Amino acid sequence: METITQPAEMSAWSEQTRRTGQSIALVPTMGFFHEGHLSLMRFAAARADRLVVSLFVNPIQFAPGEDLERYPRARERDAALAAANGADILFCPEPAAMYPRDFRTTVTVAGISEGLCGRSRPGHFAGVATVLAKLFNLVQPDRAIFGEKDFQQLAVIRTLVRDLNWNIEILGHPIVREPDGLAMSSRNVYLNKDERQAALALPLSLEHARHRVGQGERRPEVLRGEINAILAAAGLRPEYIEFVDELSLQPVALVGEGTVLALAARSGATRLIDNCRFKQLD
Ligand code: AMP
Repeated sequence: METITQPAEMSAWSEQTRRTGQSIALVPTMGFFHEGHLSLMRFAAARADRLVVSLFVNPIQFAPGEDLERYPRARERDAALAAANGADILFCPEPAAMYPRDFRTTVTVAGISEGLCGRSRPGHFAGVATVLAKLFNLVQPDRAIFGEKDFQQLAVIRTLVRDLNWNIEILGHPIVREPDGLAMSSRNVYLNKDERQAALALPLSLEHARHRVGQGERRPEVLRGEINAILAAAGLRPEYIEFVDELSLQPVALVGEGTVLALAARSGATRLIDNCRFKQLD
């Protein structure tokens, strides 16, 4: 595996690789790899001739007061893990190389960026869309792979690629969980023992909702009340509990096939998200 830090070098590698007729997959990340990232890499490596993993803690998707400075970083360990999981290139540019002082452009995806996480993190998805526009142009991938854990991000990226006519296939990968059900996240290292235990209320409430929907309960307001009680009893502070259509991200009147239950809650100071999609309802 080769490490590239300069955007121009990344472009040159992609040009050269495409010229030889090889396909490229891209897995964009912010590093501090866990099994969620590694399964995305293996999934991607099996679907293209060459795999580029980008590792960039993108400053413009963090609001002032968020965890940009303390976001966990482990470059050496990440490089070894990426190499062992099929990466040909680890692209890790410095922030100043991605955003020189005269950088002026923001890409926004209206509507779909505004609810759910976008409500409490204004500007977050514009930061995500802007860095991905740059990464797509530099890497020129045939396909790019994203985790379904960041379900709204995936919907924003699908819209971005469609609207801007990039010929890039966007693939989602199922959520990878710890053995006890907690969705893996680089931010889980922020949790102390009690907060880690309390965080299990997120997957438990998804399980509860699946069970209740299986019993025939389809009213979002009823299910929301029950989930709120589960999260609050564990000591979590819910930020949203939403039943939305998987494509439009608009709230649904009744849970049906293709409805996504999306949750965000704080355990201590740490903000966690999780979701599940309902299918095959009778
Ligand atoms: P991040 O480094 O947190 O920005 O994540 C990089 C990519 O990995 C994104 O596409 C995430 O959705 C994905 N990802 C993070 N955690 C998980 C997980 N537990 N399961 C599946 N994908 C994940």
